Amino acid sequence: MPIQILPPQLANQIAAGEVVERPASVLKELVENCVDAGASKIDIEIERGGSKSIVVRDNGRGIPQAELELALARHATSKVTTLEDLEAILSFGFRGEALASISSVARLTLSSRHIDADQAWQAYAEGREMAVKVQPTAHPVGTTVEVVDLFFNTPARRRFLRADKTEFTHIEEQLRRIALAQPEIHFSLRHNGKLVRQYRPARNERQQHQRLASICGSAFAERAFALRCSNDDLALTGYLALDDDRARVSDAQYFYVNGRVVRDRLVNHAVRQALEEAGLDWAAGYVLYLTLDPHEVDVNVHPAKHEVRFHQARYVHDFILTALQQALAQHLTQQPATETP
Ligand code: ADP
Ligand code: MG
Repeated sequence: MPIQILPPQLANQIAAGEVVERPASVLKELVENCVDAGASKIDIEIERGGSKSIVVRDNGRGIPQAELELALARHATSKVTTLEDLEAILSFGFRGEALASISSVARLTLSSRHIDADQAWQAYAEGREMAVKVQPTAHPVGTTVEVVDLFFNTPARRRFLRADKTEFTHIEEQLRRIALAQPEIHFSLRHNGKLVRQYRPARNERQQHQRLASICGSAFAERAFALRCSNDDLALTGYLALDDDRARVSDAQYFYVNGRVVRDRLVNHAVRQALEEAGLDWAAGYVLYLTLDPHEVDVNVHPAKHEVRFHQARYVHDFILTALQQALAQHLTQQPATETP
């Protein structure tokens, strides 16, 4: 075959392969957009594990009518304009791929009323085969994205969807990850019409503890002790909780870098080393938030942005280790000797 430029729909579907793996990945992209739009309330409705429909509604700043169609186009983003922006990125989005990818493999409706507009508009795209239709609609300030029949036009991908229950478990986990990073946002999740999760905003320590319990479970919250450490370059806050013979809480392991959830061996390593040095052979769960100059970390490593690259990985590791050592030492001296595992 001669070299050809891919038709846009096919290019989008190929890109969707990287971003849209399953309903939970759709949810992640949609909810992160709500957070980027400054929403304080995000309501999610899922049907049949998300394979039938995923609806995400926010009260953020909305999208102007003139930009609705563009929001669905590939490489269209309001978040980055220069390479410098990309090097110091704080928003979740920046690739401008999510809505284009999702709308190429599902039936997507985007309804929005911009904060300065007195009318709401709706754009509909179906597998991107037809032009996007934009028409007036009723909607309060904010945005609703509805994704129906995920992978309806890519049967090979549709077959990879698991049982509704399994997909729902992934969605719940995705929501947990995001909610832990956004304590001030109110989240609700409905599955097949039933309210199944509600995370209320946490504005003080007591509410934070309640929110931790509702997201990570009461066993985790009961065992959690706070951690707080900073120097001129780095700050680490969050919670650590040790397994004991009554409960296993080490399944909850969350690490955030500038508010972005990350999988990184560096933290696991530091946690294991700190526990070992303290003579503990239990595992630990954690929710840790690292803040640093965004120039010191590269988030543009992975399409779903799960991985990051620290410019000074050793320095970051050692800082985290020290913070953990201090928190553990303090915790163990406060514990009655008999309770120490
Ligand atoms: P990205 O988030 O990388 O910019 P997306 O495809 O996820 O790309 O979204 C494209 C654009 O659509 C965003 O840059 C933003 O301007 C707009 N947008 C998407 N979702 C929302 C939302 N919930 N509220 C306001 N604007 C949104
Ligand atoms: Mg986005």
